[in-house]
Amino acid sequence: MNQNDFPQDVSRRDSIKKLGLGSAAGLLGLFGGISGAEAKERDQDKFTYAKGVAPIKIKSVRAIGTAPQGPNLVVVRVDTTEPGLYGLGCATFTQRAEVVVTAIDRYLNDLCVGKDVDNIEDTWHSVYTSSYWRNGPVLNNALSGLDQALWDIKGKRAGLPLYQLLGGKVRFAVPCYGHGDGKTPEELADNVAKFMSQGFRHVRVQQGLYGATSLAKNPDFKDAGFANSKDAFMDQVTYMKSVPKMFDVVRKRCGEEVELLHDIHERLDPMDSIHLIKSVEDYRPFFIEDPFSPENPKWFQMLRQNTTVPIAMGELFNNQNEWKEAMVNQWFDYIRVHVSQIGGITPAMKLARLGEWFNIKTAWHGPPDVSPVGHSAHAHMDLALWNFGIQESVRFNDALLEVFPGSPTIKNGYMYVNEAPGIGVDINEKAAAKFPISNRAGNWQVRKRDGTLIRP
Ligand code: MG
Repeated sequence: MNQNDFPQDVSRRDSIKKLGLGSAAGLLGLFGGISGAEAKERDQDKFTYAKGVAPIKIKSVRAIGTAPQGPNLVVVRVDTTEPGLYGLGCATFTQRAEVVVTAIDRYLNDLCVGKDVDNIEDTWHSVYTSSYWRNGPVLNNALSGLDQALWDIKGKRAGLPLYQLLGGKVRFAVPCYGHGDGKTPEELADNVAKFMSQGFRHVRVQQGLYGATSLAKNPDFKDAGFANSKDAFMDQVTYMKSVPKMFDVVRKRCGEEVELLHDIHERLDPMDSIHLIKSVEDYRPFFIEDPFSPENPKWFQMLRQNTTVPIAMGELFNNQNEWKEAMVNQWFDYIRVHVSQIGGITPAMKLARLGEWFNIKTAWHGPPDVSPVGHSAHAHMDLALWNFGIQESVRFNDALLEVFPGSPTIKNGYMYVNEAPGIGVDINEKAAAKFPISNRAGNWQVRKRDGTLIRP
């Protein structure tokens, strides 16, 4: 628009605005004889952004359970008073999925109907404290699904992908790691090489399942008829000896260009864990994950004084307050938050921002028991966070992709989200219904030779 297109009083107003005097001048009625109120009304007509968006309310909150790839997944759907406008969020607590469904359908819906969809922070705190007792995984997962769904709706209302609402991109895509495993170090090295040929620069290396349970022999507790015959047996010495050997074989075969990660999965006694981490220092791990169970945080002080290996921790933490002391004391380098476990995007972003002050990076927990809605939420945050570290990724099978159109994609080791407003992932409920969730609890019991239960 040419300067001459403006009437004289608008040109004067423009000059005043450039001087930073716009609102004060409006109040004083300085615009060519019109009142401040008139000027304000005219501004709102001219600039649509000043009008905001009409308030809308939550109409219903419900759970959708589905298991297209095996693990139980739970998604929250929030419908609004605007026809056709809804949001989705991941509320997956795979081991107790049906209890989360009950929490959503029987409690969250009543709590949330009629609330303003825009007030995410207020809704989060209101739901968080609504049961008085809080921080359990069931209610936190339900809350996370709600929180993500409200962010999804906010993005749709703004016409922007979620990462834009979080500050915009600081990287073009999200570097990921894949899961390498093998019965032998050589088989694992082949697997790592395959990931590298697909463009991955980061691979997690595990030999013989967590804690090398498939390598353990002679479980005395089973011979004695103690405990459940299906419980796993882990020999801690066998595992500790296997890890440096595994790193050595993979480094020799795959070279220095690939970053290697490893997960102890909280299965060693604390001193053994410190010993194991020191034993792989020369192989320069990208990080070692979950050295201690969440009941043993003070061991991190000793670990940090004894090694320079970067440490990742926290998928088992429930509450954002569990992170505070560990982060301000810089006990680890990577935040392994299970985003649905701590209550969604709102608390996860607060933790990530806290981490920025201490140069602690994010590595959101992204296993198969997170829905594509949750994986996409991770990727949106990853795109917007300066202190992003790495993203755990999994392969989605065809059934999962049919249930969740718009799922993130992976190319050359990078995760991409689509540019649709909000989180960008939808759900095909008809397809989802073909894969009902189950109440099978699974067997997570791992025992030492004498039958002592290992606490992850
Ligand atoms: Mg882990």
